[in-house]
Amino acid sequence: MKVSNLFILLLALILPLSLFSQSDHDRLITSLIGETPIEEDLQELCDQIGGRVTGTKANEQAVQWGHQKFKDAGVNAQLESFDMPSRWIADGTHLEISNKSGNSWTPLAVSKYKSKPGNYSGKLVFTEELTEEYFQALATSIQDNFIIVSTELCLDIDGLFAEYVHAKKVEDLANKYKAAGIIFMASRPAKLLYRFISSTGDEESIPQIVMAREDAKRCIRLLKTGENLGIQLEVKAETGDSFQSHNVIAEILGKKYPDEIIIIGAHLDSWALGTGANDNGCNFSMMIDIARQMKTLNIQADRTIRFALWNGEEQGYFGSEAYTKDHLKELDQHKLAISIDIGSGPILGYFTNGRKELIPLLDQLLTKVEGLGPFHNIDAAIVGTDNFDFMLQGIPNLVARHKPDLYGLNYHASSDTYDKVNLTALKINSAIVASTILQYANLPKEEIDQFKRQSREEVEEIISNQNLEFIMKMFAVWQPWVEGKRGLQLTKKALQN
Ligand SMILES: [Zn+2]
Repeated sequence: MKVSNLFILLLALILPLSLFSQSDHDRLITSLIGETPIEEDLQELCDQIGGRVTGTKANEQAVQWGHQKFKDAGVNAQLESFDMPSRWIADGTHLEISNKSGNSWTPLAVSKYKSKPGNYSGKLVFTEELTEEYFQALATSIQDNFIIVSTELCLDIDGLFAEYVHAKKVEDLANKYKAAGIIFMASRPAKLLYRFISSTGDEESIPQIVMAREDAKRCIRLLKTGENLGIQLEVKAETGDSFQSHNVIAEILGKKYPDEIIIIGAHLDSWALGTGANDNGCNFSMMIDIARQMKTLNIQADRTIRFALWNGEEQGYFGSEAYTKDHLKELDQHKLAISIDIGSGPILGYFTNGRKELIPLLDQLLTKVEGLGPFHNIDAAIVGTDNFDFMLQGIPNLVARHKPDLYGLNYHASSDTYDKVNLTALKINSAIVASTILQYANLPKEEIDQFKRQSREEVEEIISNQNLEFIMKMFAVWQPWVEGKRGLQLTKKALQN
């Protein structure tokens, strides 16, 4: 879709000011809603570079591409290297099921991140219930064989969350009862496949396979009739040790307080079954578009606005974690960190990640673009994207909250392609996000200083109040926090506990 005059008309209604007295804010959001190269950029990224798993050539191309886009726009940008803990690049999964009469067939399947490569065989055991008693009763048949579990249909973001919780329970039981591997029924219909990380995070796990929903249903129907099914599985992946990767960090210096930083980021990497369009190419392109329009219009905020294209997000937000470590000395100067990572559905407000004191301010800032709303800010803490290490460092942080649209259905799936992006909403989202960061970066000193960097105890309180322990375990980020390897340093009090 090309921008239509409708938007300009819409804006004229939203913005009360005439062209002659337009503020930087109004010029910026008018230009972002007007014609910009964001759609061409996104198409180029998705269709030419495509899926960009950290550690692949396509990922390095995406790094160079993003860097060049900032440079072409005249925005100061650099690559910042960091070490990814290990390499695991999928190279195919082959699965064959056979029954006792000698028939065999090959369901569609993909392995989860860090499934141990190799050739496996065993029996398929349907585990209908996820309780200790149930697994105990089947203990001998589960050991050294493959369990298969059914999964609820997932069509939205709530469904995704439920799926991660379900998977964690399955993994814990499978490991306890020494299953050789796990077959998860895919949660999406029409043989759609997708890739997840498991709760072991960066540690190698037993093979964990997502099998096409229809294929898994067939297996389960047969098992329920008492049929014996055998499984032959080959998991192929390119594996290796730690390797160097890059974030792209660009900035437009502040004119009044250049040392104070508002950082806004979107991850540049993706899984590669699809082309990472909604997750997260659309918002990768948004970062470039906002920086480019600010530069074109010669807009400088009072504080520095830093644009981050994070890498290694899908494996555990390693790029943003590395940034918080490499920039430790200037973290006190980071006044806000925003992460945009929930696709291209219309923005409905922000998640404030335990910093509910930000809500009245955001309510007020969003009135400037209220015609693009309505907005509702929610104090829920998001674990699972690049705000996370800023939260653990006590820095006020936000995640944009989007209308789910097609995000859940296409999440990490082969269907996450350019044609699924809501381009109209993406342009409006850029304007909303730009409005927030520009206003925040221009807040008077006494106002911005109300939103302080927190102590470890205060962050612990957020984690406890928002019941984040299970979710952090689910994403394998609980232990590093507890051990003081991620986030604020352990205090004497924490060490005593
Ligand atoms: Zn993402």
